[in-house]
Amino acid sequence: MVTVEYDSVKKAYGETIAIEDIDLEVNDGEFTILLGPSGCGKTTTLRCLAGLTEPTSGTITLDDHDVTDVHPKNRNIAMVFQNFALYPHMTVRENIGYPLKVAGVDKTERQDRIDEVAETLEIPELLDRDIANLSGGQQQRVALGRAIIRRPAVFLMDEPLANLDAKLKISMRSRIKVLQREMDITTLYVTHDQEEAMSLGDKLVVMDKGSIQQIGTPDEVYHQPVNRFVAGFIGSPSMNFIEVTHSEGRIQAVDAPEAFDVSLDDTAASRYTGTEQMTLGVRPQYFTIHTEDTANAIEAVVKVTEPQGDEQIVELEAEDVSLTVVAPSTIDATRGDTVWLTLEDELVHGFDSETGERIGDPKEMVAATRASSSTESQP
Ligand code: ATP
Repeated sequence: MVTVEYDSVKKAYGETIAIEDIDLEVNDGEFTILLGPSGCGKTTTLRCLAGLTEPTSGTITLDDHDVTDVHPKNRNIAMVFQNFALYPHMTVRENIGYPLKVAGVDKTERQDRIDEVAETLEIPELLDRDIANLSGGQQQRVALGRAIIRRPAVFLMDEPLANLDAKLKISMRSRIKVLQREMDITTLYVTHDQEEAMSLGDKLVVMDKGSIQQIGTPDEVYHQPVNRFVAGFIGSPSMNFIEVTHSEGRIQAVDAPEAFDVSLDDTAASRYTGTEQMTLGVRPQYFTIHTEDTANAIEAVVKVTEPQGDEQIVELEAEDVSLTVVAPSTIDATRGDTVWLTLEDELVHGFDSETGERIGDPKEMVAATRASSSTESQP
């Protein structure tokens, strides 16, 4: 049983506040992802837990033991870094076994555990090779092996796949996921890649400018983003944001009052009662393109199409509003064509134009999402 808890953790470097008000619980065996743009404080959050960075204030507990001032060596935490940090002059076997050697584990047990870890990572044939001759993916497996051989209480990974090519990244991703499940180790994993985060994590912690913006399952942060930042950061291509005026369910884009003039159904409209202006958020997947004039549709002109196999990404303009839509490749959309877009009323989001906070009860969104899940495309 290992649970991790951050309580009001802050780290400042002089005037620079790297992280602030970090309150986070990671349950036993959970795979938690810290996700956010470069410089948002992910690594600092991880390093505070590892003991490599000392928080300015706040506490960190492991299973209710305050470890804030405990030496990194005594936390039983293993960390894997983006640059692997392997010992280049040692063989794979020596690298993987190194933590046990330092811990004084006898040679026979060490060899047994190295063999076991090598089997788990499917690298027994590499054991006697030199590190310098291995590919990036092989080196990353050795780095994982060196981390797990200690059977740590908590496993920390800081962008472990960032240096791998796209194909290798995907295969290592699933390997890490399986390994984490099998070992059942409480894990915190840092990435700025939202697709990687969505595919790996039980729980996502979305950060921006040193603060946690939202904590939730991949499904929750995707379908019920609490603010415009989370809505825009999660999902690919990014959500469309359109400044609109609203009156009794009628939505008009400020920069396209004639072309973008639609009425929401009563359920969707009820969320925005009393709101006269807001930022409307619509995921590119939740527009439908029609090639003929359609009731309650937005008129737009196709600017660019990007084929993606079964789908295409279509960039359009409705007067002065630019929109991105994901459409089936069977839709015939060519640059210069006029088309009509309808939107999934239930799946639009409203955000306060000033603060970016969500308008309306996210629980209603969940119900709507569930109801229409047969038609939506998952991230
Ligand atoms: P990246 O994805 O680029 O690694 P990150 O989200 O992990 O970024 P951190 O490395 O935690 O972000 O940095 C958070 C902020 O703290 C940044 O503004 C960074 O410049 C600052 N920072 C981090 N370490 C130090 C340091 N040792 N001295 C001064 N400032 C630092």
